[in-house]
Amino acid sequence: MTTRVRARIVGRVQGVGFRPTVYRYATQLGLGGYVRNDTQGVTLEVEGDDTNVGAFFNHLTTEPPRQAVIADMKTEVLRAKGYRGFQVVASEPEGDVAVDVSPDLATCDDCLQEIFDPQNRRYGYAFTNCTNCGPRFTIIRDLPYDRDTTSMTGFTMCEPCAREYLDPRDRRFHAQPNACEDCGPRLELNISGGSATTDSPLAKAQELLRRGRVVAIKSLGGYHLACDATSTECVARLRERKQRPHKALAVMFRDLPTLKRFCDVNESEEAELLSVARPIVIVGRKRRGAKLAVNLSPDTNTIGAFLPYTPLHHLLLKDIDALVMTSGNITDDPIISDENELGVLESIVEASLSHNRPIVHKCDDSVLRVINGQRQFSRRARGFAPNPIRIAPASGAPHILAVGGELKNTFCLVRDGNAFLSQHIGDLKEYRAYEFFATEIAALQRLLRIVPEVLAYDLHPGYLSTKFAEKFTALPRVGVQHHHAHIASVMAEHDLHEPVIGVALDGTGYGTDGTIWGGEFLVADRCDFERVAHFKPYPLPGGDKAIEEPWRMAASVLLTEGLGEVTPKLRPIQQMIGAGVNSPSTSSAGRLFDAVAVILGLCDVTTYEAQAAIRLESIADARVRDVYPFQVQTREQPWKLDFGVTLRAIRRDRRRAAAISEISAKFHNTIVAAVLQTCRFLRAQRGLHRVTLSGGVFHNELLLRRTVEALQSRRFEVFTNTAVPPNDGGLALGQAAVAMERIKRRCV
Ligand code: ZN
Ligand code: ZN
Ligand code: FE
Repeated sequence: MTTRVRARIVGRVQGVGFRPTVYRYATQLGLGGYVRNDTQGVTLEVEGDDTNVGAFFNHLTTEPPRQAVIADMKTEVLRAKGYRGFQVVASEPEGDVAVDVSPDLATCDDCLQEIFDPQNRRYGYAFTNCTNCGPRFTIIRDLPYDRDTTSMTGFTMCEPCAREYLDPRDRRFHAQPNACEDCGPRLELNISGGSATTDSPLAKAQELLRRGRVVAIKSLGGYHLACDATSTECVARLRERKQRPHKALAVMFRDLPTLKRFCDVNESEEAELLSVARPIVIVGRKRRGAKLAVNLSPDTNTIGAFLPYTPLHHLLLKDIDALVMTSGNITDDPIISDENELGVLESIVEASLSHNRPIVHKCDDSVLRVINGQRQFSRRARGFAPNPIRIAPASGAPHILAVGGELKNTFCLVRDGNAFLSQHIGDLKEYRAYEFFATEIAALQRLLRIVPEVLAYDLHPGYLSTKFAEKFTALPRVGVQHHHAHIASVMAEHDLHEPVIGVALDGTGYGTDGTIWGGEFLVADRCDFERVAHFKPYPLPGGDKAIEEPWRMAASVLLTEGLGEVTPKLRPIQQMIGAGVNSPSTSSAGRLFDAVAVILGLCDVTTYEAQAAIRLESIADARVRDVYPFQVQTREQPWKLDFGVTLRAIRRDRRRAAAISEISAKFHNTIVAAVLQTCRFLRAQRGLHRVTLSGGVFHNELLLRRTVEALQSRRFEVFTNTAVPPNDGGLALGQAAVAMERIKRRCV
């Protein structure tokens, strides 16, 4: 019997080779009909023998294109129409957009083979791609995804390329960035203060890198600064010029076998490294084996490693083992993505390797590590943005814009229960980052067809993101407390709705009492929270200055506990605290880690965020299981976790010249024990057994592993961030989730 079925498919179905796959399955089964992209996703009709139509949908759902995600498919059976053959028809540009934008995709194996095959017409071509791979988000201006809505619109395909593009059986059928040496983007090498050349620019760039030079290289989402990662001298030069003395630098290795000569990689890390998102994965550095520069990550035993993800990278690293590939920017500015901005890097590089395919959306590399087999993001950007995270059923809920925090800013747009978290934006206090924030909000609103009806923001009145939100005076606004947002981000990720114990160990966040919070235990749902316990507060002498200069925090802690002599250096601090001048009170967990690092002589002044705590973690002797004393005071609400006795014991151990590796481990264990005890008290009092962990301090792997282990061994159910960072890069998701819930309960 002949039947005709129309299907509307939504999800990630454009820019992933969906239509060629539909065409192949339909023609193999002798079906008639059509397939087309529209603003909702893909619409298709198939007509033919009903068993074949059934087989078609069976194929499509069990073997969709590799990068496709079918979120929903609605079918209807219609009267047969007598289609002759199967057609791919032009896109439908009108209507509400609901299709998802694909993130950028690492070069596929087929394309890789072509660029290294001297017989192939794409041999050595740095912009080779197909429907399974290549740039996506970073070149898309608008939807539906078509060549003229991307930054490829300025390149007219040559005849062989056009033939591939129009042939439904070809891997490049409707591959929008399709190009070749004759018609596509080209490389250009610029020697600083000298000439530009398009004559073998790649070979010349390789030569410069081999000679120890620093070269800016235009990638997918912006420029990298590249230099030889095996030369301590080269790395030192880059560090000096970039004024980045200690913070870890990412390293791109030629391929996985090469990477394994330098680093220890387990199976799940390998899967992440090879995934189509190609993030930077923080892995262990090999003690023996091939040698990398010693100054790549001086504070840790790890390396931020990644693999080539564009043909340009593959070609560039063909005869080079490992290159430093760090974001092309100045300190906390956004990554540079346009030739016109290269002046900023002038004092850093000897040359730049550019190309003429414009970058529409700046996008840094994503950074993650794998802990207990689960992803933990430090930065979520290329390869992941703008994948949606489902935080509620697709209902009639209004569109939401959550503006996020101030440091490590990301923002979040919500429609139909899907949260689109932006790529990493940066520190909004930097003018260029704030500009990027404002323009990217506008760009993503347009791209995703989201017109915010509700705004969510952090309660900190000084955050630039908060001030941005305040401009929308006509719209309802939802203020969300910083640590509630951290906890809500975990709840949203794991679809938790009932109240949980939320443990937010964090640097700083604005509290509802106007003080700075950061070591918080909340009983929270998605709507509201109660602050049930927190770390004992100390004065933060100098405010933000004490974050960059942890010695101030150590002085504050020791003076408050009566543990330190007041040396001449400390007298001003004592006076400041005594007079309450510029010394806000903080219950920050991050600052306590800072103070202990200073007491152990690890760091007085930092050159990058969390440096003191990172050093403290990396020297800890993981074999040590001992614990220092501590107190959880439950007489008054909220309870207080008091580490005064802990600090006293640390001082004593230090005087006795105990190994700092041992002291550090014991301190970590003490925090774990205090968290566990507080959670057990809370379970006894409130009957809650689900614990969510978030906040930037949980980037400390030793702390996170031991906390999870301790809680699970006492039969708590433990949840952590796996889709967004536990640091302030995940705040926007939590803010969005809280706003959503308050709208639902009509308490906006
Ligand atoms: Zn490909
Ligand atoms: Zn061509
Ligand atoms: Fe935070």
